[in-house]
Amino acid sequence: MELYKENQLKIYNSLSKTKEAFKPVHDGHIGMYVCGPTVYSNAHLGNVRTFMFFDVAFRYFLHLGYKVRYVRNITDAGHLENDADEGEDRIAKRARLEEIEPMEVVQRYTVDFHDVLKKYNFLPPSIEPTATGHIVEQIEMIKEIIEKGLGYEINGSVYFDVVAYNKNNHYGILSGRKIEDAIHNTRTLDGQSDKKNPQDFALWKKAGEQHIMRWPSPWSDGFPGWHLECSVMSSKYLGSQFDIHGGGMDLKFPHHECEIAQSRTCSGHDPVNYWMHTNMLLLNGQKMAKSTGNFILPDEILTGDNKVLSKAFSASVVRFFNMQANYRSILDFSSDALEASEKGYLKLMEAISSLANLSTQNSSSINISEWKQRCYAAMNDDFNTPVLISHLFEGVKFINQIKEDKASITAEDLVIFAATMNAFVFDVLGLLNDVKEQSSDKIDGVVALLIKLRKEARENKEWDLSDQIRDELLALGIQLKDGREGTTYSMS
Ligand code: AMP
Ligand code: ZN
Repeated sequence: MELYKENQLKIYNSLSKTKEAFKPVHDGHIGMYVCGPTVYSNAHLGNVRTFMFFDVAFRYFLHLGYKVRYVRNITDAGHLENDADEGEDRIAKRARLEEIEPMEVVQRYTVDFHDVLKKYNFLPPSIEPTATGHIVEQIEMIKEIIEKGLGYEINGSVYFDVVAYNKNNHYGILSGRKIEDAIHNTRTLDGQSDKKNPQDFALWKKAGEQHIMRWPSPWSDGFPGWHLECSVMSSKYLGSQFDIHGGGMDLKFPHHECEIAQSRTCSGHDPVNYWMHTNMLLLNGQKMAKSTGNFILPDEILTGDNKVLSKAFSASVVRFFNMQANYRSILDFSSDALEASEKGYLKLMEAISSLANLSTQNSSSINISEWKQRCYAAMNDDFNTPVLISHLFEGVKFINQIKEDKASITAEDLVIFAATMNAFVFDVLGLLNDVKEQSSDKIDGVVALLIKLRKEARENKEWDLSDQIRDELLALGIQLKDGREGTTYSMS
């Protein structure tokens, strides 16, 4: 039986502001959409926090046996500076400053994003659509919104009429903003804006002469508004009503509020059943953000090359650090905090590595199935990873007690215990055992040295020494193989 049938998940829904029992639209299937990066610069560690949380949620769904379609887009057009309706496209600006094509900017930072995700052991989403790959669908959605009477064209640009929408709907339902306060950032010239109401937002913008990213449309040569792509791509790949939509808290307004308005206008119902928002990663007490320069890059963590770091840390330590906090709490980044996480992480890895060698007895001194249930209960409670980690550390304590003969476990329980520890640590939290990798690197180095010494011994016709190296390595389970390319080894 699939695990999801015996695990009732509860998800904190940002829309209802309560934890709700999770029930997918289609039994056994989950559709999840997460707003992806705007690829005009390198992703910073704050972005990684948000994407990493959804990676763990995705991993847990898979672990529970759900069939998941996880869509995470790439924003490669339409996201203007300051999330505003006027001003320069972030990607076009970067292209202009660097004197390269916008698509070169997109390519460079998409590759960098994927590179970071790989180093940090992310699972790839099921679909990764781009805004520029869905211009036709975006134009179609604008036509539909105009037909429904909630979009209007002025001077080649099309806006969403928030005030008209709000007569029969609740604009501000997600962010809690009142319509009077939900004013979209628009640069006005002499108090003049071409929008009817300051709350309205752009669906299509006419491109100025200088604007290099432009597509033909019934209204003008221009480009889509930033919010449109996510309504279009989520409904295209997940249907007009799907299970989960995620992103960072800062996307609630205006981005997700506008998505709801667009999608409701076209389908007549709410697009998303569970809205999930992650809280911010802070650096020096402030939100980590590209625009303020207050950020650290994921690669800098791995090299230690940033003045806020005392040393380099592995990607798994960063993962562990992130998972020690609840995703709905703010998290303060510091080198000291990472060092503390590293200690905990190493303790966990050391205990896990010794699981296979634990000796078993006729009885268990802890109730393994009750402990296992508590691990699941923590994740079922809105993905409470810090509580899960506290249970995993109970497991660590138990392992150490068994090693010291202060506790006992049966062979049957050990199988369940090891499988549960491994599943949560590696499959669900997505940690890697760096310790094992580091020690196998060390073994590689030591054996290479012995192979070199043996080769020198043979060249000097010191046969006893060369045989001794080969035989003693073999006794340790390391077999040398002489071939045309040189000597290699295998371990039993
Ligand atoms: P962007 O590329 O700016 O659209 O951001 C990509 C994702 O990272 C969005 O879901 C943001 O909400 C999220 N994000 C941005 N800054 C932070 C931060 N300091 N902490 C956590 N998430 C963030
Ligand atoms: Zn989005």
